[in-house]
Amino acid sequence: MSSERRQCQNCKKGFAIEPEDFQFYEKIQVPPPTWCPSCRNMRRMAWREERSLYRDTCKMCGKSIVSIHAPGGPFTIYCRECFRSDKWDPLDYGRDYDFSKPFFKQYRELMEAVPRPALTGSNIVNSPFSHASESVKNCYLTFWSYFSEDSQYCYALLLSRNAVDCYVADNSDHVYESLHSNRLYKVRFGYFSDDCLESSFLFNCVGCSDCFGCVNLRKQKHCLWNEQLSKEEYKKQMEYWDLGSYTRLEEAKKKFRELYLSTPHRYAHVVNAHNVTGDIIRDAKNCQICFSALDGVENCKYLYFGGLNLKDSYDVSGGGDTSELLYEIFGVTGNAQRCFFSAGGSNSRDIMYCDWAENSSNLFGCISLRHKQHCILNKQYSKDEYEKRKAKIIEHMNAMPYVDKKGRVYKFGEFFPTEISAYAYNEVFGFPWYPKNKEEVLAEGWEWREPQERAYTITLRPNDLPDHIRNAKDSILNEIIGCVHMGTCNEQCSTAFRITREELQFYREMNIALPRLCPACRYAQRLQWRNGYTLFKRKCMCSDLSRSPDSRSGQAAYQNTTPHFHGEKLCPNEFETTFAPEKPEIIYCDACYKAEFL
Ligand SMILES: [Zn+2]
Ligand SMILES: [Zn+2]
Ligand SMILES: [Zn+2]
Ligand SMILES: [Zn+2]
Repeated sequence: MSSERRQCQNCKKGFAIEPEDFQFYEKIQVPPPTWCPSCRNMRRMAWREERSLYRDTCKMCGKSIVSIHAPGGPFTIYCRECFRSDKWDPLDYGRDYDFSKPFFKQYRELMEAVPRPALTGSNIVNSPFSHASESVKNCYLTFWSYFSEDSQYCYALLLSRNAVDCYVADNSDHVYESLHSNRLYKVRFGYFSDDCLESSFLFNCVGCSDCFGCVNLRKQKHCLWNEQLSKEEYKKQMEYWDLGSYTRLEEAKKKFRELYLSTPHRYAHVVNAHNVTGDIIRDAKNCQICFSALDGVENCKYLYFGGLNLKDSYDVSGGGDTSELLYEIFGVTGNAQRCFFSAGGSNSRDIMYCDWAENSSNLFGCISLRHKQHCILNKQYSKDEYEKRKAKIIEHMNAMPYVDKKGRVYKFGEFFPTEISAYAYNEVFGFPWYPKNKEEVLAEGWEWREPQERAYTITLRPNDLPDHIRNAKDSILNEIIGCVHMGTCNEQCSTAFRITREELQFYREMNIALPRLCPACRYAQRLQWRNGYTLFKRKCMCSDLSRSPDSRSGQAAYQNTTPHFHGEKLCPNEFETTFAPEKPEIIYCDACYKAEFL
């Protein structure tokens, strides 16, 4: 078999299918994809909601609830407790397969019949606004988090506590505004940094303490703007860099950004990995075009957020935890095997086109089944009957494919069409990564949700907040504060926000000025510190003055401090990087980066 180029059904661009890809598709008996890898990821990420929460009522117990579904939609929503109870049976909604309609049309009908959970997750204590989390306590607006407590506005926490405004943080405590960082203690503004303490404004620092405004440092102490100071001098300077003051915080932010842009960056964040391409990869091998692949990932391709011993899988958006042979899945974990075209759930085998399959095997087109085998559209069959029907349905999916509003054709082997997703596109997981405006979304034939009518009035403009946190009185808790963006940003801005008691306590303790942006806008700003899911073939920029930010002055923004293997000449190395060519950062190959910083 040789490499083949195909045209993506969705974006119409060409994409390659390599011999090893064909082998994988053959092994799991699915046809090769008709969408390019990036469009496939976008489609999977459109199947699940992100962070929009609504007030609603549980249809089973009548309790007032917080829900990821906008109220008034076509779905039956149960609170987390009712959803997980045995007061209802998902098989009651089972139905025969109808050979006069496309499969995906029938699947959407089943979605509208089977009750859906307002929020998912388990072992949630005193955290009514936490979603898709496990074992969290005293958390607020925290998503996809595990074994964490006393945290707010966080995404993907693991074993962390006292975290505010963090995105993917492991084993951290007292951390504010961080992204893809591990083992931080008392750190404010830490990006891609590990094992640091008592520091602020770090990018790609490891093992540092008492540092402020530093990039690419290893095991340093008392550094300010990448310069070594004496302990006394550092202490003195820190009196000036008082982040309790909003003015000073903004000044530091600006200066940090300048240092970040004038300091070279490695083409990818890859640690302890062998034979990999992609970004944010740690302890992995033989992984191609993988993004956020952590802890024992092997032989995977097109992975977007996955880890903990995930093996031999393709097209996984969120998944892992000792799973293998996954393909085209979103958020499938816990000993899953041979799960294809499915979302949610764990501990299941031989699953196709299912939502939230748990401890089950041999399911096709089912929703929310637990401890079940041999079901189709939530109806129970014998093993023989199941196999026969499944084969007939796959044939039917090819004979009568689903065609969406834009004419895209979905036969067997395609993930769920975005237009039958239960969520509006501007509320799905993929929206920040594949942003589109309202017109673009409607032109795709997808749903767009207008912000809810605001039932409140802003009582305090952001400019009227006290400059220093020490001057913030408890009465601030009663204010509805306007967001600086005022909904003009396409970042799901909520236009106004409140400060919670725990949050105020945290800002006081950590000496951090009150935020001027709503949590949604802060989230969008935070994501700007990392790149998206596209790889670009680029050259090392070492010694290439024309590409550095100060090119007009003819001065290199960065002067190397050590001799490099390529001497005075341009570095010949090329690589694949998530830094798009138009991005302003200076990007170095591994050798040049190591020569300068490690
Ligand atoms: Zn495409
Ligand atoms: Zn906002
Ligand atoms: Zn180089
Ligand atoms: Zn170099």
